[in-house]
Amino acid sequence: MNYSFTIQKTQAPKPKPDPNTLKFGQTFSDHMFIMDYADGKGWHDGRIVPYGPLSLDPASAVLHYGQEMFEGLKAYRAPDGRVLLFRPYKNAERARASNERMCMPDIDAELFVGAIKALVDVERDWIPEKEGTSLYIRPFMFADEPFLGVHAAHHFKFVIICSPVGPYYDTPGGGIAPTSIYVEREYVRAAPGGTGFAKVGGNYGGSLKAQAAASARGCEQVLWLDAVERRYVEEIGTSNAFFVIGDEVITAPLHGTILPGVTRDSVIHLLKSWDIPVSERRLTIDDVFAAGRDGRLGEIFASGTAAVISPVGKLVSADGALAVGGGSVGPLAQRLYDALYGVQTGRLTDGFGWTVTV
Ligand SMILES: *Cc1c(COP(=O)(O)O)cnc(C)c1O
Repeated sequence: MNYSFTIQKTQAPKPKPDPNTLKFGQTFSDHMFIMDYADGKGWHDGRIVPYGPLSLDPASAVLHYGQEMFEGLKAYRAPDGRVLLFRPYKNAERARASNERMCMPDIDAELFVGAIKALVDVERDWIPEKEGTSLYIRPFMFADEPFLGVHAAHHFKFVIICSPVGPYYDTPGGGIAPTSIYVEREYVRAAPGGTGFAKVGGNYGGSLKAQAAASARGCEQVLWLDAVERRYVEEIGTSNAFFVIGDEVITAPLHGTILPGVTRDSVIHLLKSWDIPVSERRLTIDDVFAAGRDGRLGEIFASGTAAVISPVGKLVSADGALAVGGGSVGPLAQRLYDALYGVQTGRLTDGFGWTVTV
């Protein structure tokens, strides 16, 4: 199905930010996409309009009970000038799972990706070209129906905004650098039966306290443990986590508390294509520290759209710190980063058919 949207161009284009000083998610492009949903009418009035504040009724359900979801992906400009999205249909699939969990209306994958493409097409000039920069795309959906009863809303908005971004972490010279991670034993991110597998705001609002505690200890992110036994490693901040122990690469299985990352899935595909054994299985934090002590822990790294691959140089825990891989970037993290970033930016052949041209 082909969707068409109306386009209202801005009369006051903003100056583009300096690509050398771009941070993550602080400036926004000239336009945004908005579409409305009403029960009985479905999705309607998809439109691209000048970027600006939304007007919301103060009783809008999202402001009280958090009925919302979001997504995140990036557009890159290839050396030949093409604009590339990385696996946007995976984001569409995940958005549908989040919507289902949050009692929000389904959105067709072609409509979801079509809206992203239409907006990015209008914002082509906002895609920065410097190494390590990209246009971050943030689709989100929320209940804008005014009522204070706790039940699923009947009216929603789907919005997409774009932000030209630099590297997620301030890495001198771009590329990747080791991070310090705090093993969080007090707070939990997601419990079985909860919303851990869905990209929904509540998961993040509830994680800020732990993030602040980690920052106060000089760490970039927290390592989340499972909510029931507080033993199994789950995710690193808002990224999936990989542990290289001996010859095996281990990541937590998708049993409901883990966010199914597009980057995670891509890492698993790449490792398999390189004949590197990768297991989706549970792993205790004690086994990680034991492997660190007896020299079998080769690397730890996180995967996610924002930083692509983020190596861990140090694990900090209440009972001591552990240097990982000598505190430097591990060879597998570097190889994965180069392979993923190369395909995302159109500099390497896309053997998996992952990129979509706008
Ligand atoms: C978004 C996110 C990820 C990474 O998913 P990608 O699709 O790879 O960007 C991992 N964990 C959490 C909790 C997330 O919010």
